[in-house]
Amino acid sequence: MVGSRFSRLVSLVWPKLLTPRPSADASSTLRRYLPTIGFKDIAPLLLDPAALKQTVGDLAAWTAEREPDLVLGAEARGFWLGAAIAVEVGCGFVPARRPGKLPPETVSARYALEYGENALEVASNAISQGARVVIHDDVLATGGTVGAIAGLVEKLGGHVVGINFVIELSFLDGRKKLGDYDLYSLIEY
Ligand code: AMP
Repeated sequence: MVGSRFSRLVSLVWPKLLTPRPSADASSTLRRYLPTIGFKDIAPLLLDPAALKQTVGDLAAWTAEREPDLVLGAEARGFWLGAAIAVEVGCGFVPARRPGKLPPETVSARYALEYGENALEVASNAISQGARVVIHDDVLATGGTVGAIAGLVEKLGGHVVGINFVIELSFLDGRKKLGDYDLYSLIEY
């Protein structure tokens, strides 16, 4: 009886003794280097017709006030709602695509991501001189993606009259990188 209780105790405690536990100092070091940012996925929102309608309606209302000629969405998740916002507002839609996906004559920008870098291209003939453009993406993180796209719009002679997102990761300070642009997000973390 006592023997079986003892062996149960040993089986509970033994693995804990074998598992190395970081010291308090080590764990605060680990916390600094390991990623704490969870991936924010808006796909479940798209499954709910009422939530989808409300989200598009709210972003479209904000966009319409900027009186844009075009909404520009970033590949790929900026396409999901970007075109819907454009339909609601009654303006055109421009995709910013990964390199090599658009027919010739594009302007291209490279920018840094959290890990590595990325590039996006816009068709040179999509944005005419003086066009008013609202940029849409699903998430604002460090601001590198929409910052690079805003640069492309301006290179083609367009005016960025607003940039909107479903989600803003405000602790990453993306707003700082985007300077004086008129920004809007539906929810902040
Ligand atoms: P950034 O250029 O750093 O602002 O990153 C924004 C782009 O990367 C958007 O196109 C997002 O789709 C994607 N992204 C960055 N971080 C996240 C995240 N935590 N969750 C979901 N998407 C993200």
